[in-house]
Amino acid sequence: MLNITKNTVVTLDFQLKNDQGELIDSSAQTGPMVYIQGTEDVLQGIEDAVEGLTVLDKVDVTINPEDAYGQYESESLSTVPKSAFDGIEIEVGMQLQEETSDGPILVTIKEINEDQVMVDTNHPLAGQKLMFSLQVTSLRDATADELAHGHVHGPHGHEH
Ligand SMILES: [Zn+2]
Repeated sequence: MLNITKNTVVTLDFQLKNDQGELIDSSAQTGPMVYIQGTEDVLQGIEDAVEGLTVLDKVDVTINPEDAYGQYESESLSTVPKSAFDGIEIEVGMQLQEETSDGPILVTIKEINEDQVMVDTNHPLAGQKLMFSLQVTSLRDATADELAHGHVHGPHGHEH
Protein backbone atom coordinates (compact mmCIF):
# COMPACT_ATOMS: atom_id res chain seq x y z
CA MET A 1 0.00 0.00 0.00
CA LEU A 2 1.36 3.37 -1.06
CA ASN A 3 1.20 6.39 1.23
CA ILE A 4 1.63 9.93 -0.01
CA THR A 5 5.17 11.16 0.36
CA LYS A 6 7.60 13.19 -1.73
CA ASN A 7 7.44 12.22 -5.44
CA THR A 8 4.15 10.32 -5.21
CA VAL A 9 1.78 11.06 -8.12
CA VAL A 10 -1.43 11.96 -6.34
CA THR A 11 -4.95 12.04 -7.79
CA LEU A 12 -7.49 13.84 -5.62
CA ASP A 13 -11.22 14.31 -5.93
CA PHE A 14 -12.07 17.64 -4.38
CA GLN A 15 -14.73 20.14 -3.50
CA LEU A 16 -13.69 23.73 -2.90
CA LYS A 17 -15.95 26.06 -0.95
CA ASN A 18 -15.43 29.59 0.33
CA ASP A 19 -16.13 30.49 3.95
CA GLN A 20 -19.74 31.31 3.05
CA GLY A 21 -20.11 27.64 2.13
CA GLU A 22 -20.54 28.38 -1.58
CA LEU A 23 -19.16 25.74 -3.93
CA ILE A 24 -16.44 27.38 -6.05
CA ASP A 25 -14.98 24.39 -7.86
CA SER A 26 -14.95 20.61 -7.73
CA SER A 27 -13.46 17.59 -9.46
CA ALA A 28 -16.96 16.84 -10.78
CA GLN A 29 -16.81 20.15 -12.69
CA THR A 30 -13.17 20.46 -13.71
CA GLY A 31 -11.67 17.00 -13.17
CA PRO A 32 -9.46 15.70 -10.39
CA MET A 33 -6.25 17.34 -9.16
CA VAL A 34 -3.28 15.34 -10.41
CA TYR A 35 0.15 16.40 -9.21
CA ILE A 36 3.48 15.20 -7.84
CA GLN A 37 3.76 15.57 -4.07
CA GLY A 38 6.63 17.89 -3.13
CA THR A 39 6.76 19.89 -6.37
CA GLU A 40 4.65 22.81 -5.07
CA ASP A 41 2.33 22.32 -8.03
CA VAL A 42 -0.66 22.68 -5.69
CA LEU A 43 -1.09 24.88 -2.61
CA GLN A 44 1.29 23.96 0.21
CA GLY A 45 -1.69 23.52 2.55
CA ILE A 46 -2.99 20.71 0.34
CA GLU A 47 0.37 18.91 0.23
CA ASP A 48 0.63 19.19 4.03
CA ALA A 49 -2.92 17.89 4.58
CA VAL A 50 -2.54 14.78 2.40
CA GLU A 51 1.02 13.81 3.42
CA GLY A 52 0.94 10.18 4.63
CA LEU A 53 -2.59 9.44 3.39
CA THR A 54 -3.49 6.48 1.20
CA VAL A 55 -6.15 5.66 -1.43
CA LEU A 56 -9.75 6.44 -0.33
CA ASP A 57 -8.59 8.53 2.66
CA LYS A 58 -10.46 11.83 3.05
CA VAL A 59 -9.38 15.07 4.64
CA ASP A 60 -10.80 18.58 5.01
CA VAL A 61 -8.42 21.50 5.01
CA THR A 62 -8.98 25.24 5.39
CA ILE A 63 -6.41 27.53 3.80
CA ASN A 64 -6.21 31.20 4.76
CA PRO A 65 -5.92 33.86 2.03
CA GLU A 66 -2.29 34.62 2.90
CA ASP A 67 -1.43 30.97 2.16
CA ALA A 68 -3.56 30.84 -0.99
CA TYR A 69 -4.21 33.74 -3.39
CA GLY A 70 -3.41 36.64 -1.07
CA GLN A 71 -5.47 39.36 0.51
CA TYR A 72 -7.91 41.40 -1.52
CA GLU A 73 -6.20 44.67 -2.44
CA SER A 74 -8.29 47.67 -3.30
CA GLU A 75 -5.28 49.14 -5.18
CA SER A 76 -5.88 46.40 -7.72
CA LEU A 77 -9.04 48.18 -8.84
CA SER A 78 -8.52 50.53 -11.74
CA THR A 79 -10.50 52.40 -14.33
CA VAL A 80 -9.83 52.04 -18.04
CA PRO A 81 -11.51 53.65 -21.03
CA LYS A 82 -14.32 51.58 -22.51
CA SER A 83 -12.60 51.84 -25.89
CA ALA A 84 -9.96 49.42 -24.55
CA PHE A 85 -12.59 46.71 -24.95
CA ASP A 86 -13.44 47.56 -28.52
CA GLY A 87 -15.05 44.61 -30.21
CA ILE A 88 -15.67 42.72 -26.97
CA GLU A 89 -19.17 42.46 -25.56
CA ILE A 90 -18.34 43.13 -21.90
CA GLU A 91 -20.58 42.57 -18.92
CA VAL A 92 -20.16 42.88 -15.16
CA GLY A 93 -18.52 39.80 -13.65
CA MET A 94 -16.88 38.80 -16.91
CA GLN A 95 -13.27 37.64 -16.69
CA LEU A 96 -10.72 38.39 -19.39
CA GLN A 97 -7.12 37.40 -19.82
CA GLU A 98 -4.80 40.35 -20.31
CA GLU A 99 -1.17 40.20 -21.42
CA THR A 100 1.20 42.22 -19.24
CA SER A 101 4.98 42.48 -18.99
CA ASP A 102 4.73 39.98 -16.08
CA GLY A 103 2.75 37.48 -18.18
CA PRO A 104 -1.00 36.93 -18.50
CA ILE A 105 -3.28 38.07 -15.69
CA LEU A 106 -6.97 37.58 -15.12
CA VAL A 107 -9.03 40.76 -15.09
CA THR A 108 -12.57 40.91 -13.76
CA ILE A 109 -15.05 43.56 -14.98
CA LYS A 110 -16.49 45.22 -11.85
CA GLU A 111 -18.48 48.16 -13.18
CA ILE A 112 -19.40 49.51 -16.59
CA ASN A 113 -20.09 53.23 -16.90
CA GLU A 114 -20.80 55.41 -19.89
CA ASP A 115 -17.27 55.51 -21.23
CA GLN A 116 -15.23 53.97 -18.45
CA VAL A 117 -14.90 50.47 -17.08
CA MET A 118 -13.72 49.51 -13.59
CA VAL A 119 -11.57 46.43 -13.64
CA ASP A 120 -10.19 44.29 -10.83
CA THR A 121 -6.86 42.51 -11.17
CA ASN A 122 -7.11 40.68 -7.86
CA HIS A 123 -7.12 36.90 -8.28
CA PRO A 124 -10.79 35.83 -8.25
CA LEU A 125 -10.10 33.94 -5.01
CA ALA A 126 -8.08 36.73 -3.32
CA GLY A 127 -9.21 37.44 0.23
CA GLN A 128 -11.18 34.20 0.44
CA LYS A 129 -10.63 31.44 2.91
CA LEU A 130 -10.53 28.22 0.90
CA MET A 131 -12.19 25.13 2.34
CA PHE A 132 -11.18 21.97 0.54
CA SER A 133 -12.72 18.53 1.01
CA LEU A 134 -10.26 16.08 -0.49
CA GLN A 135 -10.35 12.37 -1.23
CA VAL A 136 -7.39 10.40 -2.51
CA THR A 137 -8.51 8.35 -5.52
CA SER A 138 -5.23 6.96 -6.80
CA LEU A 139 -1.52 6.95 -6.07
CA ARG A 140 1.59 5.79 -7.87
CA ASP A 141 5.28 6.57 -7.86
CA ALA A 142 6.42 9.25 -10.30
CA THR A 143 8.52 8.05 -13.24
CA ALA A 144 12.06 9.34 -13.79
CA ASP A 145 10.79 11.43 -16.73
CA GLU A 146 8.08 13.01 -14.60
CA LEU A 147 10.57 13.86 -11.85
CA ALA A 148 12.93 15.39 -14.40
CA HIS A 149 10.09 17.52 -15.80
CA GLY A 150 8.46 18.27 -12.44
CA HIS A 151 4.96 17.42 -13.69
CA VAL A 152 2.67 14.46 -14.32
CA HIS A 153 2.49 12.77 -17.72
CA GLY A 154 -0.42 10.74 -19.11
CA PRO A 155 -4.12 10.93 -18.22
CA HIS A 156 -4.99 14.34 -16.74
CA GLY A 157 -1.33 15.39 -16.87
CA HIS A 158 0.85 16.57 -19.73
CA GLU A 159 0.44 14.70 -23.00
CA HIS A 160 3.84 14.60 -24.64
ZN1 LIG B 1 6.87 16.59 -19.19
